[in-house]
Amino acid sequence: MYPFTYHRADTLGDAMAAADADGAAVLAGGTELVNWIRLGVSRPSDVVDINRLPDLSAIELADDTVHIGALARLNDVAGHALVRDRFPVLTQAIHQAASAQLRNLATIGGNPLQMTRCPYFRSEAPTPCNKRRRGSGCAARHGINDQHAIFGWTDDCVAVQPADPATALAAVDAVLVTESARGGRRIPARDLHVLPSQDPTAHHVLRPDEIVTRIELPGAARRSAYVKVRERASYEYAIVAAAVALEIDGTTIRGARIALGSVAMRPWRLHRTEQLLIDSTIGSTEVEAAVAAGFDDARALPHNAHKIPLARNAVLRAIERAAAGEPAMRP
Ligand SMILES: Cc1cc2nc3c(=O)[nH]c(=O)nc-3n(C[C@H](O)[C@H](O)[C@H](O)COP(=O)(O)OP(=O)(O)OC[C@H]3O[C@@H](n4cnc5c(N)ncnc54)[C@H](O)[C@@H]3O)c2cc1C
Ligand code: SF4
Repeated sequence: MYPFTYHRADTLGDAMAAADADGAAVLAGGTELVNWIRLGVSRPSDVVDINRLPDLSAIELADDTVHIGALARLNDVAGHALVRDRFPVLTQAIHQAASAQLRNLATIGGNPLQMTRCPYFRSEAPTPCNKRRRGSGCAARHGINDQHAIFGWTDDCVAVQPADPATALAAVDAVLVTESARGGRRIPARDLHVLPSQDPTAHHVLRPDEIVTRIELPGAARRSAYVKVRERASYEYAIVAAAVALEIDGTTIRGARIALGSVAMRPWRLHRTEQLLIDSTIGSTEVEAAVAAGFDDARALPHNAHKIPLARNAVLRAIERAAAGEPAMRP
């Protein structure tokens, strides 16, 4: 550890003023930030604790949109009747994330802002990593890369964004609402993260002075499901994950939204598959062909070719479960 200034904000105005300092970082549940400080990944000069801000934990319905306060804890989000009823994909993604203890503390605002789990990025020993030290290279490109990207990577970074709830949020077209001393903005969840072709050193587009106040989920995605493939059944990040939201008429798909997790530096929408699925019949070979077409531009690294069939099958399984309308609370 090293010295930093700790601010406990009581109002959004206090928080925005403190976060405006160069080198400041916002503290919500702290399940990521404290680790980064310990590992030396992050060295904020000022830590702005927003846990006492009023009204940032509410979950409510307004204008046919579910508004979730950024400080709502993951378990409270997953268990809320509005989320379980309208967005089972989010409840399922949360239940498969981290551990019950972590989910009691971790917030929905902090989850999409977590950094990659690439072991070189988190290494305590100095390692070539453009995300840790700009211009130092990418040790994973020709090193250990079995957990790395199959979409959207470049030689400068092959990492993935591993957040489960963030993948579900991208699939249902959620929007992050921010405030800062310079004004607020609305960031679609699918545009939050930065691909290496845009900037290999960055994780997301949020500025350090911006505070996420809420996440909005428009409408509903009642026929939706989250399938996570991992090395053990709990307390493990995804090898691949698929979030699917369908509109169904009998057994015919009228609309589909699909995001993959842990395959790229952002939740990866399968736009081509989404288009091809329209008017196809659940369980048909058309569905298989539409899903396969979404992987035409997948590119494996030397050690992760297995992720392509795993991800394809995860999408097919998620389509089946979404179509069946399985309950949000899967065991
Ligand atoms: C052992 C372990 C296992 C895990 N497994 C999984 C898993 O399987 N799946 C998964 O999805 N996640 C997993 N996680 C990650 C966990 O879900 C995140 O750590 C958590 O969601 C982050 O939320 P937080 O509130 O604790 O964020 P913090 O640690 O407080 O903050 C994280 C980042 O977000 C910023 N931030 C937080 N809130 C705001 C806000 N309102 N406005 C602006 N910036 C903000 C902080 O400045 C920081 O940059 C795991 C974590 C651990 C430690
Ligand atoms: S994949 Fe990205 S995070 Fe990992 S070593 Fe390469 S540059 Fe760093």
